[in-house]
Amino acid sequence: MSAPLDRSTTWPYEDGRPGAFSYARYSSPTVAEAERRLGELDGGDALLFASGMAASTAIVLALLSPGQTIALAEGAYYGTGVMLDELERWGLRHVEFDQTGPPPREADLIWVEAPSNPFLTMPNFDACADHPAPVVCDATAATPLNVRPLELGCDFAVHSATKFLAGHDDALVGVVVCKRAEDAGRLLEFRSRTGPVASADTAWMLLRGLSTLEVRVARQTESATKIAHRLRAHRAVETVRYPGFGGLLSFDVADAGAARRVETATRLIVNMTSLGGVTSRIEARARWEGARVPPGLLRLSIGLEDPNELWVDLEQALERAS
Ligand code: PLP
Repeated sequence: MSAPLDRSTTWPYEDGRPGAFSYARYSSPTVAEAERRLGELDGGDALLFASGMAASTAIVLALLSPGQTIALAEGAYYGTGVMLDELERWGLRHVEFDQTGPPPREADLIWVEAPSNPFLTMPNFDACADHPAPVVCDATAATPLNVRPLELGCDFAVHSATKFLAGHDDALVGVVVCKRAEDAGRLLEFRSRTGPVASADTAWMLLRGLSTLEVRVARQTESATKIAHRLRAHRAVETVRYPGFGGLLSFDVADAGAARRVETATRLIVNMTSLGGVTSRIEARARWEGARVPPGLLRLSIGLEDPNELWVDLEQALERAS
């Protein structure tokens, strides 16, 4: 049965007092239902935001003060670094570190990604848990089906639910899942005061996506494993990065020209950005990330198409690599 969609922005007081829902900027029934489901998946208290970046920005602004330092995993989603660059004007510093080792001592907040997008490295969760600072893990590419950061010693799990969780490229939405109820309370207060909550419609789309998450991710993992294996054996492919689970992988061809020829030659696999949807897509990441990625790096997000058809498409596109 599908969850009801309540688009109200205000609800009557109960005996003259605000009830569980009074004004939609604080919370609403459909948002609360999506939060309940996400909280179960990650094992904590979930809060929905208007996008993944809104969720990430809220964590930083709600928990830190000017003069504090964030240690950010090198090669993590480039937009997280761009957001932190933006916040430097407000006195927040960030330094990058190799997330496969220990975080720097001076960090007031540690930010890792499991697995990182597009380098697909995994954090050293034990080293993070040994550090006194709170730890945030962006597990967008893993989903809670593969990595549950709160069980691995992290204080916050964050997801761009726009990707695998909603799963159909039709809902922009983010989530923070907190280990401690007091952190969830602080983030709810921050969200209510500043306004970046998800809409009821978006929460409903997310709920619908969640009902097929398990079968989608299982199929994407199976197909991505096959494709990664075949890519590793292809003469035009130099490096293949795949953590062994999930639908996201990346690989390198010789240079930027080769990457452009391959990404524009696929037919079934669409040349577009984002990840985690039912439609497979490929893109050269240098167009967004510049010199931070190899010029020939192609990011591939596997959808629900037949894996053999995906390979036939990739193989004919890779003919253009040389
Ligand atoms: N985190 C990761 C790992 C992402 O890939 C993205 C978007 O690509 C985000 C966060 C930001 O999410 P959104 O685009 O929903 O704001």
